Amino acid sequence: MDWLRYHRRPRDQPEPMDQARGRMVREQIASRGLTDPELLRAFGAVSRHLFVDSEFAYADEALPLEAGQTISQPYIVALMTDAARPPGGWKGARALEIGTGSGYQAAVLAELGATVISVERHRELSEHAGRCLADAGYDGVQLVVGDGTRGWPSGAPYDAVIVTAAGPSVPQPLLEQLKPDGGKLVMPVGSRVHQELTVVERRGSELVSSRRDPVVFVPLIGEYGFGE
Ligand code: SAH
Repeated sequence: MDWLRYHRRPRDQPEPMDQARGRMVREQIASRGLTDPELLRAFGAVSRHLFVDSEFAYADEALPLEAGQTISQPYIVALMTDAARPPGGWKGARALEIGTGSGYQAAVLAELGATVISVERHRELSEHAGRCLADAGYDGVQLVVGDGTRGWPSGAPYDAVIVTAAGPSVPQPLLEQLKPDGGKLVMPVGSRVHQELTVVERRGSELVSSRRDPVVFVPLIGEYGFGE
């Protein structure tokens, strides 16, 4: 009967979450060229599975949220976070996120040491994100329900603005709320179906803009975004 034992497979065990997260950081983020140790530490520290209720929380893919919205694949969240890094680092930086969704991106920014304000137009998503953030230990994040295309002037100026929904152009109020010396904004800009990740850096009255990777995000809907 020896052959039977030999051929028996170990029972399929789901991979423990912290192992899956470590693998996500190595195989999806570091191996694709994002190597800032602080960024990798933060992605290794935030429990993504508390924000997306799916067995695929650490998979290399975007996942559905409530209200027809989507959380980006881990690499894209990392790419945007890396592109928005303030010149002096994240510790003590002021960050504005537009599109709270699950709260995961906000948690990453908080883990990096930023003071985070995040705006979401769907109240139920914002409330759910608030519970997830608290469960994950990030109750310092300030959540706002409203049209994020207008920004959040009372928290300005921001070292970093990350827009996690796609618009036809960068909303003017968000540019005005960037810190004049070195403030950075990252946002997918394009049509409703296809966009390019766009980075804008403010240097005094000058805005330096660059277009990077092709991406697909859900639409930014509001006064300075797409219509309903
Ligand atoms: N950053 C999120 C994913 C965001 S998905 C995460 O980490 O999970 C994009 C989100 O942008 C959606 O929840 C959508 O409702 C929101 N959104 C779209 N237009 C918006 C607007 N004008 N203001 C605020 N949120 C908006």
